[in-house]
Amino acid sequence: TGTLMAGKRGLIMGVANDRSIAWGIARAVAAQGAEVAFTYQGEALEKRVRPLAESLGSDIVLPCDVTDESSIDAVFETLEQRWGKLDFLVHAIGFADKQFLRGRYMDTPREAFLQALDISCYSFVSVSRRAAALMSEGGSLLTLTYLGAERVTPHYNVMGVAKAALEASVRYMAVDVGARGIRVNAISAGPIKTLAASGIGDFRYILKWNQYNAPLKRNTTIEDVGGAGVYLLSDLGAGVTGEVHHVDSGYHVVGMKAEDAPDI
Ligand code: NAD
Repeated sequence: TGTLMAGKRGLIMGVANDRSIAWGIARAVAAQGAEVAFTYQGEALEKRVRPLAESLGSDIVLPCDVTDESSIDAVFETLEQRWGKLDFLVHAIGFADKQFLRGRYMDTPREAFLQALDISCYSFVSVSRRAAALMSEGGSLLTLTYLGAERVTPHYNVMGVAKAALEASVRYMAVDVGARGIRVNAISAGPIKTLAASGIGDFRYILKWNQYNAPLKRNTTIEDVGGAGVYLLSDLGAGVTGEVHHVDSGYHVVGMKAEDAPDI
């Protein structure tokens, strides 16, 4: 615990349960003194998110489906009333129909493509516009991405394309809001066993492959991502914007299977 984020207020979007990456970031920023609000998608998840929020002393827990602009508006109206200003936003939201997270990317139908790009990329643009409007004293916007945006990784398919668009959005928005002291960054996390990840084909194999071949010889945890989140969301990251920061045990630097990696 510390005081790196004392006095800062932020919205965390994308907690589904205590394995969520958003939860790892929420815990880490709260441990540094930040005050946090949460959104959840649908009533079923409210039952999970509300107790987690309360455990961090947060009583701002709001419904939000990012495919619905009026639901996004309602969140930011409440934040404006409750807090007036905002210092940071965490967007840890992604979705693609799991039917298409296997097989050929080329076979993705238009509907599934548009849905994946809408929820996984455009939603960050949409919430960032409203968040930035409340960041009167500067701020930090953060999203989550994956290596499948940069290179072909098995089964990631349309999500890889959506993440590529998301990473480009980070760069364009960094320019849009930079003069106002607002920073925009992404963390590219290594594979972590979460609800969203369970939709990806052969995910257990992908976890093993990363563990054996990453320089650190272990998988990424939500605590690893939380630590990097504190850096990017606090003033420690004051000079950093437009960046895609890898928190993946170093996996992204590796070009071939490690010599000592066992067969899986
Ligand atoms: P998760 O299932 O815990 O979180 C995904 C969240 O997205 C859920 O809270 C879900 O409610 C939310 N969501 C989906 N559709 C939504 C909608 N229409 N409106 C509002 N919310 C919606 O899984 P996670 O792995 O923690 O995912 C968080 C982010 O991290 C995602 O962007 C994911 O792509 C990214 N990521 C995950 C991994 C991994 O291996 N788990 C690796 C790199 C990046």
